[in-house]
Amino acid sequence: MKEASRLSQISTSLIRRMFEIVEKAKRDGREVINLSIGEPDFRTDDEIIERACRAMREGYTHYTSNFGIPELRQAIAERYGVDEKNVMVTAGASEALLNASLAFIEEGCKVVIPSPNFLSYFVYAKMCKAKIVQIRTHQDGFVLNPDKLNEVLDKDVSMIFLNYPNNPTGVVADAKTLKSIVEVARDYDVIVVSDEIYDRIYYDKKPTTLAGYENVIVVNGFSKSLAMTGWRVGFVIASDDLMDSMLKVHQVNGVCAPAFAQKAIAEVLADGTADKIARKMVEEFRRRRDFIYSKLKNLFDVVKPEGAFYVFPNVGTNCMEFVERILLEKGVALTPGTPFGEGNESYVRISYATSMENLKVAMERIEEFVYGDQTA
Ligand code: PMP
Repeated sequence: MKEASRLSQISTSLIRRMFEIVEKAKRDGREVINLSIGEPDFRTDDEIIERACRAMREGYTHYTSNFGIPELRQAIAERYGVDEKNVMVTAGASEALLNASLAFIEEGCKVVIPSPNFLSYFVYAKMCKAKIVQIRTHQDGFVLNPDKLNEVLDKDVSMIFLNYPNNPTGVVADAKTLKSIVEVARDYDVIVVSDEIYDRIYYDKKPTTLAGYENVIVVNGFSKSLAMTGWRVGFVIASDDLMDSMLKVHQVNGVCAPAFAQKAIAEVLADGTADKIARKMVEEFRRRRDFIYSKLKNLFDVVKPEGAFYVFPNVGTNCMEFVERILLEKGVALTPGTPFGEGNESYVRISYATSMENLKVAMERIEEFVYGDQTA
């Protein structure tokens, strides 16, 4: 069978390779500590589970409006100070990102992705047969420099993907820089997709939302902030025109998010429970961030993460070899930097979405590995 050409540039080999190495480490009797996890390690709060069960019994088991249930749209609209008609609930942030990509990336056009960045953006751009233009951010504290963006923009660019707090670096961009980026993009009629999925998980400066700009699609959701990755509820905030185009895709793609999940989330947003749940989780992430950064900074060149639950040190050597060896020799699973874009060949992503006990053991093993290496 012949695969469609739109998938020809997309590879799953790295995922398979990582899986094989983990399996080998386990076969060798290694107890593997997994620091490659992309979701909170916390269970969804019981309060949300109770409310979802109640909602199911009350009949929230059908399709909802493509836009989402009114209570949830309203709660989201209030949080952003926008009109409800500019909110659409989706089946996770991933669905929203695909909707935006299919709606606005013209085949053959360019898509700008600052590197390093969430690897799915590269997949969406490839699926839409766009040319990817990467802008390296390593010299700019992992934040896109508006002047560098200005240099690459032209009328052939369809879209720019932004993600702050960032996966994989944890950096948070400041409001002034973000505003400049959006204004530069607007001059060229370029759409900015601002993926704000980690906006509730921050430790120092508060992330700025880009909701409200005519050329911006804000993508967000509850996977991370409420530890609900398996429930599949996300949303977009966009102007009327942009929303209409995305609805054309959403009506045949996600259709709607699970009704009972929408209802439970609407309730915990409205009565403040959601904020309490997120705050508690973030305090634990902060403890872990402080611990892991205090250790890593003695070993590697590393930028202190200000949000999300990742850190992206430069290990100073080929990341694939580093990741394979540390997994096989020490039983610590990390993510290599290469899939996050150009210039990341000597970086690894470490996720601290795991218990403090695991992190302590993992850091001891990483230290042993690095010091062992140096004396070898
Ligand atoms: N954006 C980023 C930056 C992410 O890290 C993730 C999850 N790894 C997503 C989007 C997808 O979120 P969701 O579960 O809501 O689809």
